[in-house]
Amino acid sequence: MTGKIMKGIAGFYYVDVEESGIYECKAKGIFRKEGQKPLVGDLVEIEILDEAEKTGNMTRILPRKNELIRPAVANIDQALVIFALENPTPNLTLLDRFLVMMEQQNVPTAICFNKRDLAGEDYTDHLRSVYENCGYRVFTVSAAKEQGMQEVEAYLKGKTTVVAGPSGVGKSSITNRMQKEIQMETGEISKKLKKGKHTTRHSQMIPIDHETYLCDTPGFSSLYTTDMEKEELKNFFPEFHPYEGKCRFLGCIHGKEPGCAVKEALEQGNISKERFENYTMFYEELKEQEKRR
Ligand code: GDP
Ligand code: ZN
Repeated sequence: MTGKIMKGIAGFYYVDVEESGIYECKAKGIFRKEGQKPLVGDLVEIEILDEAEKTGNMTRILPRKNELIRPAVANIDQALVIFALENPTPNLTLLDRFLVMMEQQNVPTAICFNKRDLAGEDYTDHLRSVYENCGYRVFTVSAAKEQGMQEVEAYLKGKTTVVAGPSGVGKSSITNRMQKEIQMETGEISKKLKKGKHTTRHSQMIPIDHETYLCDTPGFSSLYTTDMEKEELKNFFPEFHPYEGKCRFLGCIHGKEPGCAVKEALEQGNISKERFENYTMFYEELKEQEKRR
């Protein structure tokens, strides 16, 4: 039988088999020999050990569509990063870190700014335009007031989406609403998955329907930009791309070089100051890291 790994805790994997439910599985020695570690989101073949107890062994991992390092999950279509416009005020450096990480891993990402009922219109419009100018899809919603939620649901529908955001921004309000709206036949499954949800240190798939999954990721605040050469960083700011190759110097890192097309765009207001400041900050961090290596 084939199923999807919904979560993994202490050597046990919870595998969702369509129509049959969740099996608690172990990875057989075969994985260790081949050096392949099962990931949340993996499609796996299982052998049932005990149907009544719902236990089994995983025997094979099916080929992956993709594999993320942070968070460590497989077969992801896209990401949704959620921040509040107010209460808590958004930490845009953290948001940009997340976006860089997703760019680096080639995951299309949309941004959801929640709690628009608490924020001024000018600020909301400002943030929307900053991130839309970078090419990101931006949703401004109020989960509490049920505003703008249909667009978010349409974005998630039929996809497997990594959902991330600091605590208090309304992540649960948004994901619970999804479960209420489209989830019908999977009610039993999610009950079973909630058992033992005490560990929030692991990523977990939340089934919405048979084609829609949310991947809940813990530990958002401890994200950093690593495993990257400082010269690569500019590739992960999509708003710089139109100026690629237009700077006077080949390999310009958009720092102090004269004739920099990105700096010029910044001065003309075509690139956001906040984003550029974060670019500079991340660049310096990578430079420091390089020195310590
Ligand atoms: P999480 O920590 O990201 O999962 O956030 P929660 O969903 O638990 O929400 C945190 C708090 O924000 C709760 O008190 C929610 O009632 C509140 N909240 C969520 N969405 C909204 C919203 O759109 N507007 C307002 N004013 N409050 C919200
Ligand atoms: Zn430049």
